[in-house]
Amino acid sequence: MRKYDHYKSVPKFPFEIGTKTRKPKSIAVVDEGNCTGCQVCVPFCPVDCIEVDEFSNGNSPINPVRIRYNECIGCSICSTVCTKLTWDAIHMIKIAEFEEMFPEIEITNTFEKSNNNTEVIEI
Ligand code: SF4
Ligand code: SF4
Repeated sequence: MRKYDHYKSVPKFPFEIGTKTRKPKSIAVVDEGNCTGCQVCVPFCPVDCIEVDEFSNGNSPINPVRIRYNECIGCSICSTVCTKLTWDAIHMIKIAEFEEMFPEIEITNTFEKSNNNTEVIEI
């Protein structure tokens, strides 16, 4: 009898880290009150834009993760990984809704990674 593969719908790790080449249709947003800080989602991001939120002072002793929004390509892999492997703490928000919610955050069409342009935005 064939065994059911519980992990078959879990995304694969990226072969290489890319960057944003067009404006995404949606952006990943972490519900930090729901995030356990397990960091399981971090290595799955194909543009490496998920990091530990060093500034969060939530109720948990473990810091949640945060998204560097202008680097996100909206692939939703992190959201799937969080739901399938751990919890349900990442929500994909449509770009128009995101821009209305956070008008102070600029989402550009492309993003060039360099040593000094990694954005850190407090919201
Ligand atoms: S997998 Fe989910 S719960 Fe774990 S750090 Fe990522 S967002 Fe938080
Ligand atoms: S949706 Fe998640 S995995 Fe995809 S680029 Fe954005 S933060 Fe990274």
